[in-house]
Amino acid sequence: MSNPSLLILAGDGIGPEVMAEVQRIIDWYGDKRGLAFDVSEDLVGGAAYDVHGVPLHDDTMAKAQGVDAVLLGAVGGPKYDVLDFSVKPERGLLRLRKEMDLFANLRPAQCFDALADFSSLKKDIVAGLDIMIVRELTSGSYFGEPRGIFIENNERVGINTQRYTESEIDRVARAAFELARKRNKKLCSMEKANVMESGILWRDVVTEVHADYEDVELSHMYADNGAMQLVRAPKQFDVILTDNLFGDLLSDCAAMLTGSLGMLPSASLGAPMENGRPKALYEPVHGSAPDIAGQAKANPSACILSFAMALRYSFDQGAEADRLEAAVEKVLADGVRTADLMQADGGTPVSTSEMGSAIIAALDASL
Ligand code: NAD
Repeated sequence: MSNPSLLILAGDGIGPEVMAEVQRIIDWYGDKRGLAFDVSEDLVGGAAYDVHGVPLHDDTMAKAQGVDAVLLGAVGGPKYDVLDFSVKPERGLLRLRKEMDLFANLRPAQCFDALADFSSLKKDIVAGLDIMIVRELTSGSYFGEPRGIFIENNERVGINTQRYTESEIDRVARAAFELARKRNKKLCSMEKANVMESGILWRDVVTEVHADYEDVELSHMYADNGAMQLVRAPKQFDVILTDNLFGDLLSDCAAMLTGSLGMLPSASLGAPMENGRPKALYEPVHGSAPDIAGQAKANPSACILSFAMALRYSFDQGAEADRLEAAVEKVLADGVRTADLMQADGGTPVSTSEMGSAIIAALDASL
């Protein structure tokens, strides 16, 4: 049987720097765990624009459709701010998500004990936090028609449409229930059924899907209350399911419970392919961080933890994902810190590659 295939799109700014460390981790799995991947690389974002005049070449799109998983670094940077909207680096990422039909965005918010002081909340509220937000990614307010700015009664009117079909809700709900089943078997669905018809439908469909997942405890919450509960008592949640717009806000809110952007991974999953694996794109939550690019200061953990998500959700290697996450946790517990994780009271930060080396040493120690 051939090795599973990975397409690496490192992108711009710190993307290539953090991805270089992921590459070392991938090599480690090949050498030490007999888990070899067929890795190919290509361009996305500004790097693709520089070469092809577009932020994602058709050939790259075709490659992404043909691999078992795509790993993306980050896109964007000030150099590209002047570009027309249609060729901005972000359009490359949006094209990948759209054409791969990645409808379920998984955003874990996990608080590593060693970093509990980084949260803006009190330590006891976030210590041990481990929640997963599943955000619908391909429909809802960001895509619904009609949309635009129109003239009505001699004034401008801005319109976006919150629109969900039953099948769109059904498929993302199933993805969330499946996840909850592998975690603590609790799912909280968030919408605004009190004021939005799309919310009423959302609640109905999620309740119907629940019939196939009765081992999972389902609750419903209005999304505004959800936001309050996330900062009041986030540990009450296991998996949160929500739509595109509310998920955008709630996942960023949950992310900040844990402290640093440099620690946050994500996965975007689509329908199963012929081999049973879901279409999948894994990427850190952070951007290209132009303020620190090229200075070896970037924290590679978010990108490395995104690869851990790939091990778990694309390659059914949950134990190896646990091993990698534990290695990151150990390095933090040992006090190894990139600059973004330094407290005001100092210490000497390690570089991007030193962080990578520390994580590899922790992986070695786990054998
Ligand atoms: P950003 O995430 O790039 O940076 C925000 C802050 O966090 C910066 O101070 C940065 O130095 C720091 N930071 C981010 N990642 C870090 C890491 N791994 N290690 C250490 N520090 C880290 O967001 P921004 O500054 O708003 O955007 C910069 C560029 O990235 C823009 O062009 C934006 O459009 C793009 N962007 C891309 C993505 C993506 O590729 N998915 C996401 C967000 C922003």
